[in-house]
Order: sequence, then C-alpha cells, then structure tokens
Amino acid sequence: MTITKNIQWLLTDPPMLVDYCLEAWDHLPREEVDALQLAGLKQRFAQLRNAIPMLKKLADAENVDSIDNFNDVVPLLFDHTIYKSYPPSLLENNRFQHINKWLAKLTLHPVEEIDVSHCQSIDEWLEVMDAALPQLRISHSTGTSGTVSFLPHSQSEIDKNGAMKQMSVWNLGSPLRSERPELHVAYPFFRSGCSSHLRGNDGIVKHLLRGEEYFHAAYPTKMSSDVLYLSARIRGAQAKGTLDRLKVNPAILARKEEHDALQAKMPAHLKQFFQHIAQELRGKRIYVWATWNLLHNMAKAGLETGLEGVFSADSYVSTGGGTKGLIQPAGWREDVLRFTGAKELHELYAMSEVLATHMRCEHGHYHLSHLAIPFQLDPQTSEPLPRHGRITGRAAFFDLGADSRWGGFISGDEITIEWDQHCTCGRTSRYIVGEVQRYSEKNGGDDKITCAGTESAHQEAMDFLNNLGE
Ligand SMILES: [Zn+2]
Repeated sequence: MTITKNIQWLLTDPPMLVDYCLEAWDHLPREEVDALQLAGLKQRFAQLRNAIPMLKKLADAENVDSIDNFNDVVPLLFDHTIYKSYPPSLLENNRFQHINKWLAKLTLHPVEEIDVSHCQSIDEWLEVMDAALPQLRISHSTGTSGTVSFLPHSQSEIDKNGAMKQMSVWNLGSPLRSERPELHVAYPFFRSGCSSHLRGNDGIVKHLLRGEEYFHAAYPTKMSSDVLYLSARIRGAQAKGTLDRLKVNPAILARKEEHDALQAKMPAHLKQFFQHIAQELRGKRIYVWATWNLLHNMAKAGLETGLEGVFSADSYVSTGGGTKGLIQPAGWREDVLRFTGAKELHELYAMSEVLATHMRCEHGHYHLSHLAIPFQLDPQTSEPLPRHGRITGRAAFFDLGADSRWGGFISGDEITIEWDQHCTCGRTSRYIVGEVQRYSEKNGGDDKITCAGTESAHQEAMDFLNNLGE
C-alpha cells in the first residue's frame, strides 16, 4: 500500500512523500527514488500514450507499447524546440484557431473546441484560453531566440511547483503547520504575465504567502506577451538584416515604444525599488529570486549607501539561469549575502519545460530533483549514455510532474553527472558536477538535435504535428 500511495504523492503532491520536511526530502534513499520514478514513468506512459496525439504518433511509429526500464522512453523524448515548431506565420497573422489546432496535438486539454477565431493579439488569445480552460495555463518562453515557445502547462503543475517551494523556502523542519510564517516576496520584475516565470507567481502567492499584499513587485502590473514577442521578432530580424520587411500591428508597436521607455528606465527604477524594499521590509524574512547580476546590482547599490544585513537571516535568496553570458566578478555571492543578511544563497538549475529545480549544494553540485528522471544522451546521435560512472553528455529529462502533456524532452544543455559516488554534503540524490553548458554556445550559435530512435519516425511525427490542414 505504501509504495502505491508514494507513487501517487510523487505524481500529484510530491512534498507529501516526506510530510513537507526538506531534510527528509534531501535524504530519501536513492533506490527508493529510482523505484518510485520508474513506477511513475510507467503510469504516465499508460495515461498519456494514446491520449496525446503527437506522442501516439511517435510511439506507434517506434512500436513502443510498454516501458520496462528507463531507457525504453528515450526514443519518445521530444526535442525541446517542438514547442516552437508551429509555422511562424500563424502568430504573425493572428491565426489562433490554427495555433490551437497545433497545440491540441500536444495536450490533453480540449483546446481545439475553444473559439479563438476573433482574437487579434496573443494577450487576447491567452485571456480567452485562461477563462475557457482554467486547468490549462499556456505559458511562453522569453523569446531570446527570436521566436517564442508555447508550453501547455496545467494549473496542477503550477500548484506542485508552489508546494515544492513551500517545502524549501519555509523549511520548517517538521511536518506541515497550519499557520503560515510571515514571509514577503521582493520581485524585481512584473507581478504577472504568461511567461513561464510569471505564471509561477500566482502559485507563490497561493502556497507561500499570507496574501497578495506580501508580494512586492517592482512593476505591479501584467507584462504584455505581444510586446515581448514583438521585441523578440525585432531582435531576430535585426540579426538577420530583415528589419525593413517586418510586418507590425500599429497598436502593438505603440505599446512597444512604451515598453522600450520602461526598459530604459529599468536600472534606475530597480535601484529605487530595492531601496524602498530595504526600508519597508527591514529585518523581515523575505524570499527573492532573480538572475545573479540583478541580485548583485541590488547588493552593490545597497552596500554603497552603507546598508548591510538588511533582512532576516533566514531569508531565502535564490538565483538560477547561468551567467547570462557575463563575467561574474569575484565576491559577488558574498556581496549579496552581506547586503541581504541571508545565511546562504540558493543556486539552482532549471528549465521552463521541467517542473523540477535542481539545487546546488555547499560543495558546488547541482543535486538532481526526485521529480525528473535524468538521462544523458550522445550529443550527436542522442543514443542513451550509461547510467553509471561520471558521464558528460546532452541532458534530457522526463518530468514526472507533467500530467496533461508529455514530460519527456531533450534539452540543449551539456551536463556531467556523477551516477555512483555520493556527495560529501550527505544528500542522497545524484548530482551534476561543474557547470552546465549550452551546446549552442559551444558550437557558435548552432545546436541541431537528432532525436533517438528512427529518424523517419520523428520526421513523420513532426509532419503530423505541423500539418494543420491549411
Ligand atoms: Zn552535495
């Protein structure tokens, strides 16, 4: 009975596996986690195999009907670029009914039944979708590549993420407590929006805070997805030298100019925001997460004015997302800790396609979360690499939290995993050694993923996905 129950917890409310005790979570025996993950994978496969059209197409072509061990799922991992594989003209011409038709092949939610033919912008489309399907929360990437991915996340994924953060950030060291600790969020960006980061904010308020008034955002408004997408297109066109051919909706262009003005004032605004927060929340326990450079700028500005140890020592300061192509000055971590007064800095490795976050320990290792099954693939052929020893290869994950989309996907990251040796920090999970590197950065901007399994099967499935009957 316990194992069945535990599989359900892992898939639906992971912190319940340990009664929300972080210490116990960090020390779950490896063999137990492996067994739960394999059972969870089998369950997800049985549930989704024939229900997600794109997965069915691929599994049929690859003749995969059951999962006996982890590597059986490798031929069915999606290339992460699948979520931006829709024809770009659909978005440029506001053909949202067709985007729904495309998305319908990637999710259980009945997106095709929703009438979005009248929508004239991404913001409008997402608003209609949010209202019509409250269990679906379509989120998008930030468009650094010139186009945006659309991920059909479910509300339950956002909730699971919130619950996991509750366990880590509250860190009560004991089972669930009915009374919420006083905790404030200082967030150096927009309060809401539909990018995957911003979607998570509602989960934070719901699971970690006493109420909306405890969430302090530098911009308390909603970020426009259209403006973000337009910025991405302009950047892409600039890079290709095709800016003069870009077709832009005048209403959105006007908002873009507004947004550019806001961007230009951002450094000054953030400085003011952090000064204000340092006064208003002095001595309080805060939760702040941002890119390393934003955190460091905040700390430098504060330290310059003589502010130190501003917040409570059990505040949770967290960062992730790599170096952002910048050189990190020595001592930036110490500056952040000195200014905030927090005892430690929580660094994490995560990606918007996967619910799980992998936390860095005091020995500099990213410990792999129990919520995602890790794989390493040969960077050229995508064949699975051995699951023992110390291996470097392309990272792939099966996200066990994904319940209405397929959780298996191949990333653009190169990682080294230590599969056998335990980390001296005492945490039981396997871990990433050294830095995470993007193949596209290693290869001068290019990263072509070959999916494992038969190439014709993957091509056939991609043709199926993008055939929208036009
Ligand atoms: Zn460790």
